Formats: sequence, C-alpha cells, structure tokens
Amino acid sequence: MASSKRMQPDRQSGLFMRYLFFTIICLFFSRIGIAAEQLPALQGTPSSVTSQIESVDETLPVAVPEPSAKALAHYRSGTVLWCIRTIWELWLPILFLFTGFSARLREFARKIGRHWFWAMCIYFVVLVVLNYLLSLPLAYFQGFIRPHAYNLSNQTLAKWFTDSLKELGLVLVLGCLFLWIPYLLLKKSPRRWWLYASLAMVPIYFFVVMIQPVVMAPMFNQFTPVKDKALEAKIMALAERAGIHGAGIYEVNKSVDTKTANAYVSGFLGTKRIVLWDTIIAQLNERELMFVLGHEMGHYALNHVVKGILCLSVLTLVAFYGVHVAASFLLRRFSRYFGFDQLSDLASLPLLVLLINVFSLVLTPIGFAYSRHLEHEADRFGLELTHYNHSAGTGFVKLQQQSLGVPWPGLVYTIWRATHPSNGERVEFFNEYKPWLKHEPSRYEAYFTPEQPKK
Ligand SMILES: [Zn+2]
Repeated sequence: MASSKRMQPDRQSGLFMRYLFFTIICLFFSRIGIAAEQLPALQGTPSSVTSQIESVDETLPVAVPEPSAKALAHYRSGTVLWCIRTIWELWLPILFLFTGFSARLREFARKIGRHWFWAMCIYFVVLVVLNYLLSLPLAYFQGFIRPHAYNLSNQTLAKWFTDSLKELGLVLVLGCLFLWIPYLLLKKSPRRWWLYASLAMVPIYFFVVMIQPVVMAPMFNQFTPVKDKALEAKIMALAERAGIHGAGIYEVNKSVDTKTANAYVSGFLGTKRIVLWDTIIAQLNERELMFVLGHEMGHYALNHVVKGILCLSVLTLVAFYGVHVAASFLLRRFSRYFGFDQLSDLASLPLLVLLINVFSLVLTPIGFAYSRHLEHEADRFGLELTHYNHSAGTGFVKLQQQSLGVPWPGLVYTIWRATHPSNGERVEFFNEYKPWLKHEPSRYEAYFTPEQPKK
C-alpha cells in the first residue's frame, strides 16, 4: 500500500507509521477520488448560469469522453512512478538490514539513550530521518516537480518543504508514542504477538482517525465553515434531508497546494466531519456540488469510516500473522547478516517494515476492492438523495478532463491503486441508476427525512 497522513497517496516520509497513515488515508478518508485543474469559478455565478442549472434535465445521460493525450501521458508516467516507489520502499529496508546498519544503529542508540525507551526513540528518529533524506529526491519529484509539470499545482516550494517537514515531525512523534507497543508484545509473547499487536492496533487506528481532523489536518491547511453562506444553508438543508443533524461541514484552503479538487469525510465520534476543498467549490456548479455532498453524506450516514477501520483491522491481523511466519523464516536464514536473531530486537524494525510492505502489497487488492464497494454505495446514496444523475455525470466529466483522469484504467491500476470505481463506471452508473423513475424502492430511503427532495 502507499500513502500518508496527507490526502495524497503519493506524498510521505516515514517508516512504520507511514504504513499506518497511508493505509488509513487510502482506505478511509473516503475521498471522492477525483482531481481537477481549476475551472473559472462558477460560484456566485450570474443568473444566466443559475437558470441553466435550474433547467437541467437530470434524466439525460452523459457521455464518457476519451482521455486526452496529456491525460494518457500522466497516467503512464504515474504507473512508472508507482513501480519505482514500490520497489524503493522494499529496497531501502533491505539495505538497512543486509548491511548490518540497523544493528549498528541499535548499538549506538543503546549507548546514547541508556534507558530502553530513549534508546528506542533515538533509533527510530535516526532511522526515519535517514529514510526521509534518502527518499527526498523521489518525494520532491513526485510531490512537487511532477504536479507542476502537468500544471496541476499552485504550491510554492516553501509550502511543499514545510509540509514535508511537518509530516516528518508527525511520524517521529507518533512513532515514539506507539512503537513500544509492538516491541513490548514481541518480547512478552513471541508466539502470539501478531494477534495481540493487531488487537492493539484497533484503538490506535480509531485514535489516529479521531485526532486527524483536529490535530493533524490543521497543521497543513486552514479549515473554516463554508464561506459562501447561501451555499452553506443549502448544504445544511441537504444534510437534514439525509438524516444528518448538526454535522460539521468545513471548507479547506487547498487552493494553496493544488489545482485538483476533492471532498472527504474524516474523523470519528466528535471529530466526524465533511470537508470540501475550496477548489471543488470553485470548479463545480451547484447541482454538481450537491451530488458530491450527497456522496459524502452517504459516507457519513453509512459510517464508512468505521467500516473502513474494521476492514483495515482484519487485514492488519492477516498481515501481522504473515509477518510473524515470514520473519521467523528470514531470521533463521539471514540473522548473521542482520546482526540480530530475535524479532523483539529493536534492530528488527526494517525487517518489520519490509514485511509489512510486502504483505500490504498482497492485501491491498482486498482493501481497495472493499473501498470501491463503499464508494459505489456512497454514489448510490448521493443519487437517491439528490436525483441529480445528469449533474453528477457532468461534474465527474468536468473533473476527469481537468484532472487529466483516465476513465477506463487498466487491470493492474484497478487492482492495486484504485480506491474508487473508475470514472467511466461511475458516470455509467449515474446514467442508469434511477429506480425512482420506475417507482421501485431506493436502498437508502429509510435514512432520509420524509420530505421529498425539491427538484
Ligand atoms: Zn467517497
């Protein structure tokens, strides 16, 4: 798997905790998975545009356009970059392990730190910072050079770099807070650690998801109530119809970072919220935006964040068991190179990371298939709530074209990288899913307040 505390799956530094963040973000911050260059702002549009929107025939189908040559180039170069990054993330821990560097670093940390906890922190900090520095050129290319080359980013180098340092700081703090847990379990229960550690991960996942919107996200961007008050009132009315009362709905100034557009649901319990990037508010017309909100309200009402964490917890159990079995095998064969022969040795961290990366690569297709299922259901919820089928289609076509999206990606992309159904599949679903026209029951009717939506 691949990604970070941030919303973008391709930007991150860090080791152990990166896996955690990446996985959570990829699967569970429930983005609608579209990105776009900025269109001329349609927000606060003159009445001519508003009247056009009012007269949209929502029963008309929308054609899925062919991707542009630039979009195909973006897709192909993205695939090459994904391969390079995946290999890099496997190769780096192999290097730390087989050179004996990890064992030497553990010795150094023990001498300096004395107490086991400080030794662990020193070891972790040095390893993660080294990993960060070695990965910096690739991260810079992927996170800064490439989006600018495709005209998908507005971000200044200073913002990119300070964000990158903040991410590093977060990984260091969270790693020092939580890393002792698996090592304690490895020491106390060498045979069953994988079971107890995966159980321990469940509250950690919930904790990270809960603090993410209030602690981490505001470190990078400004979150405010929706600035356009007329729009906010319409969003609140839609939320009431969706059976969501008193939901937090925020606007975030992502236009400083990107020209792409997005929306997502994050948080847990008191921090649960719907977040709209300011770019998506600027790019979509009102009905298109209301469908996107209906989709996000689907995630919110159907508890997709919690379902995602539970799915991740099951995958974690399988992955940790796989790590347990594979690590025993590797330790028997290669411990003389590694400089340690117990998984409970702190120096085993690159081995754990390597194996977690391998097993997450194996398990990613399952997690992503589940994620695509949740996204499809959120689409269904959004359509049933708004009946804006045509506007959903035009919105997604607009975003596909602006974001250099490819409507029908290949099988390998779908299996390992697609957290959402393809744009082509989604638009076709918008075109055909209208049970209310045939007086058939809708799946999520029971969630909606009785008043029928205004058309
Ligand atoms: Zn979604």
